[in-house]
Amino acid sequence: MKFEDLGLSDKLLKAISDCGYDSPTPIQEQAIPHILMARDVVGLAQTGTGKTAAFTMPMIEILEGGRAKARMPRSLILSPTRELAAQIAENFDTYGKYCKLEKALLVGGVSMDEQIKKLDRGVDVLIATPGRLLDLFERGRILLNDIKILVIDEADRMLDMGFIPDIEKIVGLLSPMRQTLLFSATMPDEISKLTKKFLSNPREVAVAAKSSTSKNVKQFLVWTDKRNKNEVLDAIIQQEDVKNAFVFCNRKRDIGALTKWLKNHNYAAAEMHGDMVQAARMNTLEDFKEGKVSLLVCSDVAGRGIDVDEVSHVFNYDVPFNADDYVHRIGRTGRAGNEGRTWMLAVPGMDEKFVSAIKKLIKMDIEEPEIEGVKQKKPSSTGDQKRNEKHDKKRDHKGRDGKKQNGPREKQSDKNPKSEKRSPVTQADNRREKPNKNKEFDVDSHEGSGVGFGDDVPDFFKSG
Ligand code: AMP
Repeated sequence: MKFEDLGLSDKLLKAISDCGYDSPTPIQEQAIPHILMARDVVGLAQTGTGKTAAFTMPMIEILEGGRAKARMPRSLILSPTRELAAQIAENFDTYGKYCKLEKALLVGGVSMDEQIKKLDRGVDVLIATPGRLLDLFERGRILLNDIKILVIDEADRMLDMGFIPDIEKIVGLLSPMRQTLLFSATMPDEISKLTKKFLSNPREVAVAAKSSTSKNVKQFLVWTDKRNKNEVLDAIIQQEDVKNAFVFCNRKRDIGALTKWLKNHNYAAAEMHGDMVQAARMNTLEDFKEGKVSLLVCSDVAGRGIDVDEVSHVFNYDVPFNADDYVHRIGRTGRAGNEGRTWMLAVPGMDEKFVSAIKKLIKMDIEEPEIEGVKQKKPSSTGDQKRNEKHDKKRDHKGRDGKKQNGPREKQSDKNPKSEKRSPVTQADNRREKPNKNKEFDVDSHEGSGVGFGDDVPDFFKSG
């Protein structure tokens, strides 16, 4: 199918052609015609499938025909995070560049004045996080009765973040005479119920099996002591061909500590979490996109929805408590037909049940390769613990200089001196700040989400 077959206007087709897209992605192919026919749509699609364009393109088409009134936006997109909201806004700029549409981004962490001025002038598209929207509504700065199209994006993430009561409140403020689109990577019961409550006779479109992971992503698991996690992560990064990576932590305090540790070990690392002001988050994301930052240490909330196509690795510094988060996290790599690799550090006695839940969800085992020079400690139930402990003792004293040889990628062999192996992820750091040379080989210091396409990687992404 071609974009021309979807019933989009010439202006939109021109903007799409400027992007160099050959053909619609499966979710676009399925959703766009229904949206153009004013149907409610439930889209089961992960990030990386082109789902943002699947709703922004037809919305541009529909909204182009009307005019916005002051303080009365004509459409509303609810996003769980500021980053995702910013990306949706970018989509409107990209695909709507030949159309005259006004949009406003209403997210926490940025000054309200500019946002209020825009709303006062009238906007066609309002992209908002639930909290900031309710805040402005309660101050009487915005009227929601003219919303004709409502989009709830990443509904499962909204659920995880506890936004559902806010969403219910917001939907209660809207006219029932509206078109509603809901997108979610997974469909837990709570979201199914919400769908029945908020949508009227929706068309269901889906592009990937529920909770599937991309075949493009090679997954590995390492069992280690909690106190050795930093060294293990370091050793993995050293043996992998890491161009750039997300490093996910479960707790905010670990994000800061790990980022500091990585920087001290000469990595171009930066942190990203919900407590940072919006401008700092945006700058960090830009630095990551431009390659100035190679390791982005983040929380699920901050990492979710970040649209960077070429991320070579995802590291789960912690096993996520929620198995769905694993799918979201590793979906940050292996996008748009690229290969990706992901490693998860698990602690025996703490993470077994979370690891089993993940394996059950993704319906596959995760390879557990040996890594030279690191302290691995498999759970005793695997029968490997003793063997590993013995193995560890033998090589413990070697530390980081312990001549790492064969890892999952053989090309990372001894031929590469360590300093060279380190360079892909540290070059940028070297430009930005002085490396702490003393700490570089200090082994003993401690501290401490689009998903892919499941089984069907569409051809257009393979060729792209
Ligand atoms: P999303 O699932 O919205 O996060 O989109 C993932 C990526 O796919 C984005 O970088 C889009 O620019 C890109 N994309 C969206 N639609 C298409 C298409 N039809 N062909 C190629 N790339 C696309």
